[in-house]
Amino acid sequence: MSKSSFIDFKAVKAAITMERILLHYGLMDKFKRSGDSLNGPCPIHKGSSPTQFRVSTSKNIWHCFSECKQGGNTLDFIAKMENVSIHAAALKAIDWFHLDPEAMSAASNGEDSEEEIPRQPANSQIAASSKPAPRKPAPAAENGTPNKPLQFRLDKLEREHPYLIQERGLTLETIVDFGMGFCAKGMMAGRIAIPIHNPESNVVAYAGRFPGKPEGDTPKYKLPQGFRKSLELFNIDRAIKEPADKPLLIVEGFFDCIKIHQHGYRKVVALMGNTMSAAQEELIKKHTVFNSQIIVMLDENESGRAGREDIACRLSKYCFVRVREFDQEDMEPEHLSDDALADIVEGVA
Ligand SMILES: [Zn+2]
Repeated sequence: MSKSSFIDFKAVKAAITMERILLHYGLMDKFKRSGDSLNGPCPIHKGSSPTQFRVSTSKNIWHCFSECKQGGNTLDFIAKMENVSIHAAALKAIDWFHLDPEAMSAASNGEDSEEEIPRQPANSQIAASSKPAPRKPAPAAENGTPNKPLQFRLDKLEREHPYLIQERGLTLETIVDFGMGFCAKGMMAGRIAIPIHNPESNVVAYAGRFPGKPEGDTPKYKLPQGFRKSLELFNIDRAIKEPADKPLLIVEGFFDCIKIHQHGYRKVVALMGNTMSAAQEELIKKHTVFNSQIIVMLDENESGRAGREDIACRLSKYCFVRVREFDQEDMEPEHLSDDALADIVEGVA
């Protein structure tokens, strides 16, 4: 069955929820939960009254009581938001949420078995924590299909955002180099969008960093639903182009990596967390030779210490691994000075 010729709308509808779609659009902050409904301003006609638009999270339907005076299901919502046909909305949903149309129609041809519809498990802690309706995750998370390259780019990102320049100490050159910036609308609205590339330099996702200290339940980072960060290493595409005799620096966070890059050391990747997944281990292994050198430099805190022990132990099977510790508790590589970093990377050769 070809992916484009036939779309099982029912299966697509069953595989997505209104909450997932609102998350995709970065709209969840605007909605208040009450029982099984979410109330907020209508994103379709862009209204402002906090009660005009209602979503049933159990039935996955919506209604606008104001200007639109209509409602519908998940696909109707995407169709209205994107101003496209239901068919095009279903294609968008398949793309955004990495649905597998073939597997879905196979599952829905039998019983009305929503549980059996293969779904992309949300591996990222961030995505998982903001996803309220737990469903059976698909098996073999690590060995599943890779993250697909995105078919779009977030444009009109505000580069010279005070959070990046003043708070993170990045130069405009670095900001442009990493293709990041403040996103005013869309899925990462109100956040700093940071593109994540696969080793082939395709953008596979945007991470959205809240520009400041988030309050309440607002997560620091937002990742697209369905995106599996455990399959990627941030900046790997550029790190592997660096000379083989340079050590590969492994850090935790985006900004550790970006800052080290700004200092002029480009052979650095970020785990996007303080653990190394099996897929990340494979990626590193694939791009190292027997005499490659690796420096593991995680944050100096309890989880960082635990993570670096495990990582060093696993990687030392393939190459020379050194663990970099800091004297000062809570030190993060992002805050290293030029000189301190030079000492670290040159001390190895
Ligand atoms: Zn409306």
